[in-house]
Amino acid sequence: MRTTELLAPTLREVPAEAEVVSHQLLMRAGFIRRETAGFYNYLPLAMRVLKKINQIIREEMDRQGGQELLMPIVQPAELWQESGRWDVYGPELFRIKDRHNRDFALGPTHEEIITALVRGEVSSYKQLPLLLYQIANKFRDERRPRFGLMRSREFIMKDLYSFDRDYEGLQVSYEKMREAYTQVFRRCGLRFRPVEADSGAIGGSDTQEFMVLADSGEATVLFCENEACDYAANVEKAASAPVTAAPVEEQKPLAEVPTPGAHTVEEVAAFLNVAPQRIVKTLLYETEKEVVAVLVRGDREVNEVKLANALGCLQLNLAGPDTVSSVTGARVGFAGPVGLKVKILVDREVAVIVNAVTGANKDDMHLVNVNPGRDFSIDIVDDLRMVRAGEPCPRCGKALVEAKGIEVGQIFKLGDKYSKALGALYLDESGQSRPVIMGCYGIGVTRTMAAAIEQNNDKDGIIWPAAIAPFQVIVVPVSAKDATQMDAAEDVYNRLVAAGIEALLDDRPDRAGVKFKDADLIGYPLRITIGARALANGQAEVRVRRTGEVMMLAMDELESRIAELLGGL
Ligand code: ATP
Ligand code: MG
Repeated sequence: MRTTELLAPTLREVPAEAEVVSHQLLMRAGFIRRETAGFYNYLPLAMRVLKKINQIIREEMDRQGGQELLMPIVQPAELWQESGRWDVYGPELFRIKDRHNRDFALGPTHEEIITALVRGEVSSYKQLPLLLYQIANKFRDERRPRFGLMRSREFIMKDLYSFDRDYEGLQVSYEKMREAYTQVFRRCGLRFRPVEADSGAIGGSDTQEFMVLADSGEATVLFCENEACDYAANVEKAASAPVTAAPVEEQKPLAEVPTPGAHTVEEVAAFLNVAPQRIVKTLLYETEKEVVAVLVRGDREVNEVKLANALGCLQLNLAGPDTVSSVTGARVGFAGPVGLKVKILVDREVAVIVNAVTGANKDDMHLVNVNPGRDFSIDIVDDLRMVRAGEPCPRCGKALVEAKGIEVGQIFKLGDKYSKALGALYLDESGQSRPVIMGCYGIGVTRTMAAAIEQNNDKDGIIWPAAIAPFQVIVVPVSAKDATQMDAAEDVYNRLVAAGIEALLDDRPDRAGVKFKDADLIGYPLRITIGARALANGQAEVRVRRTGEVMMLAMDELESRIAELLGGL
């Protein structure tokens, strides 16, 4: 391919709407153009990257026994009504009507469609297990489409669904997919981690997210500093080793103290001259069923995902000032568990606290020497708080460290949720009818491309890992007016292509500086510069994009040395 034939419109300016580096660089380097909010055109360079990611995905899915198929994007509402999701999916679901006024959805995911397909085609245990996947466009009317390809309204996803006879089978399929995902992201040249994630209030099945580690990531992950320990979880799920022994301290008599104007933990701690760890925060939450009080230590934060799981509720909101004053009889800032008439949930750390400070349920008053069990009764003790870096790993006790990540994939054990709802049953060996046991596994292909850039860039542009670069090598003649240089560049280009290396020849009449800038911006792993002096010595200059390292290579061994270099990139 020659640059003069390639549609790769680079921009000198950073587009105003692009907030994150991947969005800026995809726009500036001529990979994407926005159609309207959350919808993009993928230009030829982007397509080359996406095809490579897809190829890696296909190979790894197929290696595990996956079979590729393709399902319709337009999905009838009836199937979504059967699964119950037509009503619960909410405004993220793009809904359309056909000319007969029938309802349809643009697929945000394909559990309904594939379960209906399998329902019709699978009837015996002999046909199981099955791993079926597609790579296709998905539609989600995101509340805030942003960050370019990171959160768009149309995106490309690989979605695989596993169908097994039982939960042991599901475990095997799940492990296969975990291995496949690990290989996919490793082969894409990314630094990533699989982390435990929350599976939602209903269920409690296993799920893991694959996170590309990058400072710009929206997700926070915690993992063990101990390399031999593989504990890693996202912040919603992360736990730390529980405190067991209570500090040895005698329980003192409960007392009320005035704390005028002090309602934050810091203010109360300063006013009473106690450590924030001794203060207990009482937060009121409203669910669809009731108002509850949640107690965490003053230096901790409530984890609402854990709280919702502990309550088994669907909706959870921090109570407003009116509810707070009607339940506690005091303004916000003075709630406490003593005498409270609602369900009381305490975090494990609070359950073992001695002589704590809490609100007194009276304006400008706190209680000191509050002891759980003695002064108030507890309905639920659970891990209800956010875990932070530095806390002990729940598996090995070493310190947890925190990092930012971009979720590029997720694997999930579904069980019989969809097969039961849609009636995807099979006959087992004894002739008994059973629901197939399912798993679902997604990779965001377009988000993976963006995540690769978030992780691999510098001030000059993108630095593609060689495995997913749009071209591996760009050949740049220094002077386009010099026929000898152009002929030599042409020759090098042809030899690389013949050797199976994906090369691009920059045959534009521009100055070398312009061509170098574009090459850095687009991020080809290697640049071969054909200049007069080196040419006279039978050499070409090779520059490694990632390190900036420059080397002079003999013309006659160029192909083999380039292939060698690419192997390490
Ligand atoms: P998120 O929490 O980021 O909204 P999700 O958990 O809803 O994502 P899944 O349903 O697990 O997403 O979809 C599988 C994969 O599809 C995700 O891991 C992600 O890589 C990708 N993906 C999901 N939503 C988007 C989007 N709006 N734009 C681009 N990729 C997306
Ligand atoms: Mg997900």
